[in-house]
Amino acid sequence: MNICVVGTGYVGLVTGAVFADLGNDVVCVDNATKKIEALRAGQMPIYEPGLEEMVARNKDDGRLTFSTDLPGGVRQADVIFIAVGTPPKESGETDLSQVEAVASEIGRSMDRYKVVVNKSTVPVGTGEFVREVITRHQPRPLDFDVVSNPEFLREGSAIEDTLRPDRIVIGAPNQQVAMTLVELYAPLERPMIITDLPSAEVIKYASNAFLAAKISFINAIANICEAAGADVSQVMKGMGLDSRIGMQFLQAGLGYGGSCFPKDVDSLIHTASRLGYDFKLLRSVVEINRERAAHLVEMMRKAMGPLEDKTVAVLGLAFKPNTDDMREAKSLEVVRALHAAGAQIRAYDPVAMEN
Ligand code: NAD
Repeated sequence: MNICVVGTGYVGLVTGAVFADLGNDVVCVDNATKKIEALRAGQMPIYEPGLEEMVARNKDDGRLTFSTDLPGGVRQADVIFIAVGTPPKESGETDLSQVEAVASEIGRSMDRYKVVVNKSTVPVGTGEFVREVITRHQPRPLDFDVVSNPEFLREGSAIEDTLRPDRIVIGAPNQQVAMTLVELYAPLERPMIITDLPSAEVIKYASNAFLAAKISFINAIANICEAAGADVSQVMKGMGLDSRIGMQFLQAGLGYGGSCFPKDVDSLIHTASRLGYDFKLLRSVVEINRERAAHLVEMMRKAMGPLEDKTVAVLGLAFKPNTDDMREAKSLEVVRALHAAGAQIRAYDPVAMEN
């Protein structure tokens, strides 16, 4: 299949590399010229285990190319993936300007039927918005379909997650369009959920919000344990062995950070409110999460006395291991709080120092 992936970040680059590895012809497009030049020269813009080798292999075999030419990428592709950023606005609402810019360009450049796939995490209703933007920018009416195919990869194990996802979610307007994506993903032999577009969009947010809630829940339990003299790590084990609960996302600590959970939880709260529902549960999840860094610094103060002129080593800065992504990293909150308390900071990360 001829594929164009727009946005060559954590999601776009990994998706493009894996689709090429499955034997497709893939062009990864980005408007960051330096990024594309670096990729052409074999330099990775991000750190992700196994990525460099996979990109090099497929680039050398001629199945994976990099370009800043979006119209060219659109014209040569049968399927176009949108994998650009969807950052939060101040209000928590998702900023769809990158998605809108790409959709307009797709509309302007379309020369025949295309399947346009939203891989970026976008609020429910965005599939319809993309359809409307493309239609509005077409110089002449041409048929196309919009599909939602949310991404669930985790940074640090992105290649592995893309090759062996727990499930592949395809939200399509009809069975025939869904089959295009089913065909593309078939070699992975993983479970697929074929559903309508809005449901696929909600699945992504509901999943991330649920995991964030699990993290805030155990952190709330940690607060009780501290006050009562119980050991939260034992409580966590005792809970996690219950197969209905499970161990994952049940570690008490600094709470969730990173480029996805904070913004996706805020976005779902915003979407719920727009739809007339006050998502009180999620607002508490955010509140509990917000308190964690200050709580850690307070624990340090209790253990060590005043932090003025103490030197604190911060080992590990990225929002989790095996990535260089510093977006919304909890380390930043801790470092700021320590700094405000007068401590000197010596910080180190094996891969994220530059960021
Ligand atoms: P990213 O910031 O790493 O990459 C986005 C890329 O899009 C950048 O390289 C940027 O230059 C490019 N871009 C922006 N506007 C463009 C335009 N008009 N034309 C061409 N390229 C353009 O973002 P990411 O982490 O890969 O996330 C992308 C989407 O996937 C987001 O919606 C995110 O929520 C979602 N997602 C991310 C992860 C993750 O772990 N990073 C996991 C699942 C889903």
